[in-house]
Amino acid sequence: MTASTTDYRAMWQSLGLNLEAHDALLAVIPVLYQDVYLSQSDRPEGMAYFDFVMSEIHGLRVKELVDHKAAGGTVVGTFCLYVPEEIIRALGGQCVGLCAGAEWAYSEVERILPQNTCALIKSFMGFKLGKVCPYAEVCDLVVGETTCDGKKKAYELLGELAPVYVMELPQMKRPEDRALWRTEIDRLVAKLEETSGQRLTADNLARAIKEVNDKRRALQRLNEARKALPAPISGKDALLAVQVAFYDDLPRFTSMVNKLADELEARVAAGQGAAPANSPRLLVTGTPMAIPNWKVHDIIEKTGAVVVTEELCTGYRYYAKLVDETATTVPDMLEAIAERYLDINCACFTPNEGRIDDILRLAREYNVDGIVQYHLQFCGPYQIESTRVERAMREAGLPVLRLDTDYSPGDAGQLSTRIEAFLEMLK
Ligand code: SF4
Ligand code: SF4
Repeated sequence: MTASTTDYRAMWQSLGLNLEAHDALLAVIPVLYQDVYLSQSDRPEGMAYFDFVMSEIHGLRVKELVDHKAAGGTVVGTFCLYVPEEIIRALGGQCVGLCAGAEWAYSEVERILPQNTCALIKSFMGFKLGKVCPYAEVCDLVVGETTCDGKKKAYELLGELAPVYVMELPQMKRPEDRALWRTEIDRLVAKLEETSGQRLTADNLARAIKEVNDKRRALQRLNEARKALPAPISGKDALLAVQVAFYDDLPRFTSMVNKLADELEARVAAGQGAAPANSPRLLVTGTPMAIPNWKVHDIIEKTGAVVVTEELCTGYRYYAKLVDETATTVPDMLEAIAERYLDINCACFTPNEGRIDDILRLAREYNVDGIVQYHLQFCGPYQIESTRVERAMREAGLPVLRLDTDYSPGDAGQLSTRIEAFLEMLK
């Protein structure tokens, strides 16, 4: 990855970024990307697109969003899979994921949030307080949700810095919870109609449902290819594709992922792998990994294993389910959207047996040798749920390794030692 050659400083300045701090952030990413991504051998050629996207991470895509706004469109930031992208797009909006995967401005963050807050929350607050994220600054509206307590309360503080709207997400999936969620979808429609000045119609919503489904279908194809032995793409490349899905231009992204999937299918037919066929195959499950959090995949793959599937929000949970495309009226389409989104199995729900079923099924389908439970420290929902996940995996005869970490590189050596020992045990 080479840094962009275009000068975007005037745009960053107009967005109110702290240019000095932003320069420091941008200086770190190419070095990290070189070490994690470009050092790999035998990558699919289609990954060149993602290298390009990363080289322009704060440049071209942000300019597209600025131009979109100048043409009368809106930009809506989200932090969670439960916020329906279809409704945002139907109303002329571009949806961008704002979760951040790097430590930034923690000294400022820890003045307003407890030190023992998960890295994901600290990171997005740090990016906002430090004024280094052009995506956060370009948003007309940020849509939060009542998932975990940390996020819920952090949105109150974020609301002092940006326009924030919060959806009430139930924490159970009983009929009355589904009814509440359905009314929350209507509330979101009203809020987004007000923000965008546009009306939801059967035409614009049907088009958006199809577009977002097409993106998920493309990611499903890419991930289907990873079932092959040897895996035709590394876990970290596949992870990057899903991370980029959260903010790239949707039709372009879908087309590039389909091209990559074509290439992967050809590699599978030719028996060409991104790692030797005898590399241990691992499933990673747990908390989301936002860009540029590639730490655990990188260590696993440098230790000689290959990640073949992720039961993560930056993985299977993002692309697995589609919205039913057969509805013809706005209320029926919204019902289908409500249904699809509440079907995601996040640890914020109780009970959450569906997640365990998903992990067991993925482990079988991807023929994995072991499971890595990855949690951000201080993430109550996933850390606590890990006890039941581990028990179910052991009962199924699947070896499990649990890693609790954060975004700092400080524990990389220790993680590497533990992963090496796990792989040794798998032999
Ligand atoms: S882990 Fe749960 S709360 Fe976090 S992004 Fe995923 S669905 Fe949302
Ligand atoms: S990682 Fe856990 S604690 Fe952090 S925002 Fe997600 S669910 Fe909440």
